[in-house]
Amino acid sequence: MTRVAIVSGAARGIGAAIASRFAADGMAVALVDLDAAGASATADAIAQAGGRALALEADVTDEAQVSDVVARATAELGAPTVLVNNAGILRDNLIFKMTLEDWDAVMNVHLRGAFLMTRAVQAHMVEAKWGRVISLSSISALGNRGQVNYSAAKAGLQGFTKTVAIELGPFGVTANAIAPGFIASDMTRATAERMGVDFEEFTAAVAKETPVRRVGVPEDISNVASFLASDEASFVSGQVLYVAGGPSV
Ligand code: NDP
Repeated sequence: MTRVAIVSGAARGIGAAIASRFAADGMAVALVDLDAAGASATADAIAQAGGRALALEADVTDEAQVSDVVARATAELGAPTVLVNNAGILRDNLIFKMTLEDWDAVMNVHLRGAFLMTRAVQAHMVEAKWGRVISLSSISALGNRGQVNYSAAKAGLQGFTKTVAIELGPFGVTANAIAPGFIASDMTRATAERMGVDFEEFTAAVAKETPVRRVGVPEDISNVASFLASDEASFVSGQVLYVAGGPSV
């Protein structure tokens, strides 16, 4: 039986790496993203490599669009039993300069998005008596200057994960969070740009402070997602796994 996974924010970066890895693991994957062209390009690359992928355009903060993409993924690929809440945005600023719009935007994509997606997909997991919910937290959940919105949202996802684990555990569903450290992606490139620093210099400086002496790549996260989505991880639930090249707490 082919398992069906939905990965949000899968057009690029970490989400694209997770979708590609899940396809290589034998799952059929629905790639949900605001960026339809990017999601299609990633889905095409997965198909070229012999995998099964479906690109679906949606904003995870929109209840109707979420319900529509979950229905389309189910109709075209089968009932989804693996969900990765990966869609994310940054709207960094110090609290005294942060606008309400930037607070709300970040809360909405990470928290409202994870809630809507998980609520829509869990019915299929409960029906199958098997499921995996994986949400992308961050080391920023522990506090990070300029990210009062993002760190609150990423800490919120940890509480969300633990509660989903408690509520859905009796139905064979696990919920876990991955909290990455610095991963080279468009998101961290945008951070370097905003700070006015060269990306290579930025990553070199972060690598120097990281115990394993390098920054992360999206595959560092997709390797962990692959394990958490597997049958072998069935007794791992409600956990937050920091994947940051060293201890974070
Ligand atoms: P990217 O910015 O490279 O990719 C994020 C993707 O999510 C984009 O394709 C974006 O689409 C999409 N997206 C944004 N908002 C929505 C929405 N409302 N609905 C659907 N899709 C949306 O990010 P990364 O790959 O770097 O990060 C992925 C996840 O990992 C995020 O949750 C991030 O917070 C988390 N993370 C990343 C770290 C890093 O160092 N990179 C560290 C810790 C956590 P569009 O291009 O149209 O905006």
